[in-house]
Amino acid sequence: MKKNKLRLSFPEDEKMHSWLPVLLNAYAIMDEGVKRDIKKYEKLGRRLACRRGCSSCCKTHRDIPVYPIEIVGIYWYVIEKVKEPLRAKIKASLISHNRGDFCPFLIDEVCSIYPVRPLACRQFNVFNRPCSAGEDPFYTRPEDVLKPSEHYLGKALYETTPFYNVYTDEERVDFINSGRLNSLVRVLQNYPWIELARRIDNVKKAHK
Ligand code: SF4
Ligand code: SF4
Repeated sequence: MKKNKLRLSFPEDEKMHSWLPVLLNAYAIMDEGVKRDIKKYEKLGRRLACRRGCSSCCKTHRDIPVYPIEIVGIYWYVIEKVKEPLRAKIKASLISHNRGDFCPFLIDEVCSIYPVRPLACRQFNVFNRPCSAGEDPFYTRPEDVLKPSEHYLGKALYETTPFYNVYTDEERVDFINSGRLNSLVRVLQNYPWIELARRIDNVKKAHK
């Protein structure tokens, strides 16, 4: 893979978890695609409205798709990378989270898992003005929503197939195009994150 400056790096963790470089490569590909697409819009005079702390999209959207490798990435990040007191806040959020509530990883109006936020979150970008509370600009002003790059999404998903034991080029393409990969997708807001809360507890006990 060509060096991608957007690629996050966790050298020690990547040595321990073979799936992690795969996930980070996929996110770097998606981020590169999104960055290029945003530049195209900006050349047309559009101004990106998304910024840190602007989070109504995280509350409005209740059906964010998340792939199995992304769930593993979130587990890893919360357990091994997030520090206290944020991790305790995430744990409390996971415990009180009910199926269909908004994303439990939105803490104090900021994405607490930003480096490993799902592909779907990475792709959702809005121009001109921030979304109002409860607004889904996909319906209210679709012209302001970045059109997700199918090309880069396909490349990012292709990168992840070794996680599912799919290796050859032909099998990888078929795994994606046949819909088998998408059949594994879960909804972020409906996922039973309580298990992650328990794992946080176990890690704390192990460190005592
Ligand atoms: S999608 Fe809307 S609410 Fe979310 S960061 Fe962008 S402008 Fe803000
Ligand atoms: S993962 Fe992060 S960016 Fe995605 S909905 Fe949750 S808080 Fe928002």
